[in-house]
Amino acid sequence: MFPRRVLCGIQPSSVPHVGNYLGAVKKWIDLQNSGDNLVVMLADLHAVTIPREPEVLRKSILETAASLLACGIDPKRSIIYRQSQLPHHTELNWLLSTLTTVQKVAHIPTYKSKVKDDAPIPLGLFLYPVLQSADILLFKTTHLPVGEDQIPHLQLCTYMIEKFYHYYKQNIFPVPELLATETNRIRSLRRPEQKMSKSDFEERARIDIMDDEDVIRERVMKALTDFNSQISYDRQQRPGVSNLIDIYAGISGQSIETIVKEAQRDNLNTGAFKKQLAQLIIEHFRPKRLEYLKLLDDRSHLLSILENGRERAREIADKTLNEVKDVMGL
Ligand code: AMP
Repeated sequence: MFPRRVLCGIQPSSVPHVGNYLGAVKKWIDLQNSGDNLVVMLADLHAVTIPREPEVLRKSILETAASLLACGIDPKRSIIYRQSQLPHHTELNWLLSTLTTVQKVAHIPTYKSKVKDDAPIPLGLFLYPVLQSADILLFKTTHLPVGEDQIPHLQLCTYMIEKFYHYYKQNIFPVPELLATETNRIRSLRRPEQKMSKSDFEERARIDIMDDEDVIRERVMKALTDFNSQISYDRQQRPGVSNLIDIYAGISGQSIETIVKEAQRDNLNTGAFKKQLAQLIIEHFRPKRLEYLKLLDDRSHLLSILENGRERAREIADKTLNEVKDVMGL
């Protein structure tokens, strides 16, 4: 009943890191190249849930766009645009907020984990999953390539679809399905018990995919491992070295077993393995980085790609929003 459409969202608060790349971007490109209709949304409205330095944000939105294009998002096949350039998101956000309850949203684990006792709670943080549902429903998204941590958000979205049907008796939204990403969560290079994150205050904890070669090498070489210098895989007991193996597997496409077996066969210690990994990352991203720098050099071309994406996104968003308002009697 609904054509297959995939929504891919990323906060453009900084260039994607290796975790974003392996857990999301690489997967999006595979989907695109196997014929899926992709909407790639630079989630800049989500990025200002925490107020940002405007000039830094403006710059990183363009850098994120350039890095996605350089990695293989093809603007002829996929729609790539900035969320803040379509007011439809915030309008649908309001309409959807009438379909859920404060209790339901407060129950979401990602929200609960961010709320500290007695500290003031930014309202935007609370409403974040409702805006996310608006993003999903605006495009009548059928598939979402996101991690399992997003399941509670997806459940909220499904709840609102049910409520919409309950009140208005019209079935206008597909229930989106999660396209689980197979890669393990990539973890921080400094605290491997946590995931690699853009919001980590310690820059050394991550590798941004467009970092220059020296930075990549230095961050890999300084990644925290343990006192055992052998290569073996155990995410619980040896999170540091296992994380490096996960990155190696994600980029090379080799299985974890093969990587460990070969490292043991070649008698590699963690230092030598890190050297190999750094080289692998550098070579993988080298051509992409050249393309990225070229794209950033031609700002008007980059802006015209985003503008074109916006117009194509607007066509879909106009239709959905008009339909929703019509059904609601507005
Ligand atoms: P964000 O940076 O939060 O906008 O995330 C963009 C996408 O990257 C989402 O689909 C996340 O699930 C994915 N992602 C973020 N951090 C990681 C990580 N450390 N490992 C794997 N995937 C990640």
